[in-house]
Amino acid sequence: MKTLILLICLATGFETFAQTSSELFDKTKMEYKGSKIEQAKRLLRNVKMWGVIENKEPNIDLAFQNLLNSAPEISKEQLKNYLQRASITNNEICGNIDLPVSHILVNGNNVYAKYFVIHDMSTPAYENNFPENINSSTWSKNNLTSWNWPKGSEPSHSIVTRTGKSKTLNDFGLGWRATKFEKKIGVSCRGLFLHIELLQPRIYPPGNAVSAPVAPTPGFTDAQYQRLALLYICASIRKGEWLVPAFHVNIDEGLKDGHDDPQNFELDKFTSEVLRLIALIKTS
Ligand SMILES: [Zn+2]
Repeated sequence: MKTLILLICLATGFETFAQTSSELFDKTKMEYKGSKIEQAKRLLRNVKMWGVIENKEPNIDLAFQNLLNSAPEISKEQLKNYLQRASITNNEICGNIDLPVSHILVNGNNVYAKYFVIHDMSTPAYENNFPENINSSTWSKNNLTSWNWPKGSEPSHSIVTRTGKSKTLNDFGLGWRATKFEKKIGVSCRGLFLHIELLQPRIYPPGNAVSAPVAPTPGFTDAQYQRLALLYICASIRKGEWLVPAFHVNIDEGLKDGHDDPQNFELDKFTSEVLRLIALIKTS
């Protein structure tokens, strides 16, 4: 979230990624060019340290690609049953799934959120080493009460700790901006993107770097992927259509002071968890 770096795009020379994501955003349709799968392949490109976006298509599980192309097979009732059985409250999932997600206006018509943007918090930054307990409830940052922002300055809709706990910072029904792109595009897109921050500390490399680019390996815990998958399912079922997942770094591609997150994100863990959870919810 906070690590401001200059994005370096290695797209030159390859037809597929010859244009930045921002350049491929169609302001008349208020979406990126291409099918949902093509958009996901662009917006889920892996990012290395210092915000270097890999110049190749991400390997997206075929079953997840099929999911993106299909109508949701689970009902709100099934999801509600699952949430109740798992004792998960609306405060953990950005609000009541019966209510609509945020929207923008296009030619006087409501267009509901299309993109589910994954971030890492890039904080706290440590000098040399990570504390050994960052994935344990004994690390104070995994306590949700330690994260508070003044009303109106929250970084996203939700945060997810490394122990898989989440809280609503803003309801999915509220339009929120958390990228450079949304602020610079020149037309109002507040409401088109939903934002999730995954807790991830950083360390500084040797030398005098002004930002801390080094993320833990692995970048995130299984508990984080599980909760992120649930948030994705809740947002999509609320909308009635699968949202296109995206990484912050790809949304801000080509923009000055764009961000480098999420670091060390394992896409297959996220997509596998979404598919596993859907199968579980179907039996609820
Ligand atoms: Zn971010």
